[in-house]
Amino acid sequence: MQFHNTLAFAQEQDHADELRYFREHFHIPQHKGQDTVYLCGNSLGLQPKAARAAVEAEMTKWAELGVEGHFVGDDPWFTYHATLAEPTARLVGAKPLEVVVMNQLTVNLHLMLVSFYRPQGQRYKILTEAGAFPSDQYALESQVKFHGYAPEDAIIEIAPRPGEHTWRTEDILQAIEENGDQLALVLMGGLHYYTGQVFDMAAITQAAHAVGATCGFDLAHAAGNVPLRLHDWGVDFAVWCTYKYLNSGPGGTSGVFVHERHAQNADLPRFAGWWGHDQRVRFQMQKGFLPMAGAEGWQLSNSQILPMAVHKASLQIFDEAGMDRLRTKSEQLTGYLEFLIKELNQPKEALEVITPQEPSARGCQLSLLVHQNGRQLFETLMANGFILDWREPNVIRVAPTPLYNTFEDVYRFGQFLAAHFTQ
Ligand SMILES: *Cc1c(COP(=O)(O)O)cnc(C)c1O
Repeated sequence: MQFHNTLAFAQEQDHADELRYFREHFHIPQHKGQDTVYLCGNSLGLQPKAARAAVEAEMTKWAELGVEGHFVGDDPWFTYHATLAEPTARLVGAKPLEVVVMNQLTVNLHLMLVSFYRPQGQRYKILTEAGAFPSDQYALESQVKFHGYAPEDAIIEIAPRPGEHTWRTEDILQAIEENGDQLALVLMGGLHYYTGQVFDMAAITQAAHAVGATCGFDLAHAAGNVPLRLHDWGVDFAVWCTYKYLNSGPGGTSGVFVHERHAQNADLPRFAGWWGHDQRVRFQMQKGFLPMAGAEGWQLSNSQILPMAVHKASLQIFDEAGMDRLRTKSEQLTGYLEFLIKELNQPKEALEVITPQEPSARGCQLSLLVHQNGRQLFETLMANGFILDWREPNVIRVAPTPLYNTFEDVYRFGQFLAAHFTQ
């Protein structure tokens, strides 16, 4: 697509956009009586208008039915989570058996590590990216200590080459191979939160399996943002949150993927709870845990209906829009953002996009490394109705999302930056 740095061009694109009506499905935060330019769906996605009614329906059910809401009415709570499996599976390229919605991301990461990080003899190390999201770092640290190892020894971090901001796939694959006989697990972010880089999950999974390690991904920034084929890639497990691109509310519920090949394996160690116990005999309240087949077998507690109701409303929007169409628009929106930043013609010493240029190696987010007074620029943007986020030491993350952002949003952001840099 040929981009132009004009309002007319941006508006034409919006007019021609077949997904433009989806913006109407969301509440857009206001600034001085106008819509903000909300470019922060990577941190907290906007509220779908349908979310309130979805929660209210459950509140009404509770008010009117009390405990009976578990078993009667539409979508009884007893099986509520199961209604989320199909749309979730479509979103991440999985079979419904392979996914479950429960808990929150870091909790689920720990549950998965209990099952899939099983150090034995020489094979006790975890390979991950350097500078992973802190919660993931702490989860790995505490897990290796739990098994009696020292994090400095048991966690191998792969960094970009000196002078580079992003990882070369060949370096990751080589590190997996070189450490092959010591690796128990490869665990990485699917899309790195700071740089916006998408890792080659298919190649990494294949390399991990080739050396006899298991492979999992934290998809916090990938779910609802980039196309995923978890089943076909053969990933062992994955976890994600739902409040970023999935627009399911602050602290919302989380998703888990466990590959079909582990679905019937009752011998996998796991931390169990009654909601993972075979549904048919759950209420017999007997000793002896019998896991449900598939990802549901990792559930601990009965479903958190209110956050799940929000998530359900949000998943309906994704189903209507379809990840393919969203991805097509996303590449264009982010391409436009990249074009406008190039138009600023700033030297690398002032401003640099550290996210890969190749569309398949990124999602919607571009990370701008601002070398001078970055924090000040960020605060000026925020004070003028541009909502983005700041990540220490010097990155502004800008994430135009295809569900509710417009080309005009991106254009206005570009204009604001242009004015800032010509001051
Ligand atoms: C946002 C994010 C988290 C947050 O974890 P919670 O358990 O949802 O608080 C964890 N990991 C990554 C990679 C993230 O981007």
